[in-house]
Amino acid sequence: MDKKANRILCLILVLVILICLYIQLNFLFEHCSKQFGFFTCVKDYFNYKKKQLKGECYIKNYSQKGISNISANLSIDVYLINTEKLNFSYYDLNKTISGVNDIWKDYGIQFKIRNITEYHFEKDYIIFQCNDELVELATNASQDRLYDKVIDVFIIPEIKTSVLFFDVKSGTEGFGWTSFDCKNIHNINFVVIKTRNVKNITWNLAHEFGHILGNEDYEYFSGQYNFMTNSGCIKDKFYSTIFDQEQVNRIYSRAIYLE
Ligand SMILES: [Zn+2]
Repeated sequence: MDKKANRILCLILVLVILICLYIQLNFLFEHCSKQFGFFTCVKDYFNYKKKQLKGECYIKNYSQKGISNISANLSIDVYLINTEKLNFSYYDLNKTISGVNDIWKDYGIQFKIRNITEYHFEKDYIIFQCNDELVELATNASQDRLYDKVIDVFIIPEIKTSVLFFDVKSGTEGFGWTSFDCKNIHNINFVVIKTRNVKNITWNLAHEFGHILGNEDYEYFSGQYNFMTNSGCIKDKFYSTIFDQEQVNRIYSRAIYLE
């Protein structure tokens, strides 16, 4: 190979390395800015990666199960979106809710279905709207592409907790919003659960209720062995159902408004 070709190859290699570095740093900034303690977060991330190379799971902290002395029934309104695509029957729904209640009984909370509505969307692209704000897109379309499409909009109802079972095309297996995410509205509690190609719908829904009841995710690389560790090896290997005392306290302060 002549010198010129060598130089071009070298340049391409450097460029690729820089792009990778940029992507990695961007990821870290985005994820670690949400977490308490930026440098601890970055350190956890690299510790996680190191363990991952050895095929192990990075666990830094086993949360102690918190004690709850509340007893509350929370009503949920269920929406089955485009049932023909869902692969999720009424039997599956009841089994899932009963599994969720088995998990949550330790924390004094039981979820009761108040209404089931079958809902049909014509388009593949659906967005959720609360208070004139577009909250999030739950399909595989990017925000830019979204506006080229004719879309369906689901207006999130207020007051009770809404749970949508939905054949979401994006990678996410579920998400939950509360009033905190949906500005200027006081009674939004909203969960979307993917039903196809998901390993553990029951855990996902139980986890999303953790959001509705005031708790935020731990990053997958945080090393926190906890119900709110939302992905990565701690979730996929252990499906922890442990809330620590701080999380239980948050659940308590939210539950009194939701009953
Ligand atoms: Zn989560």
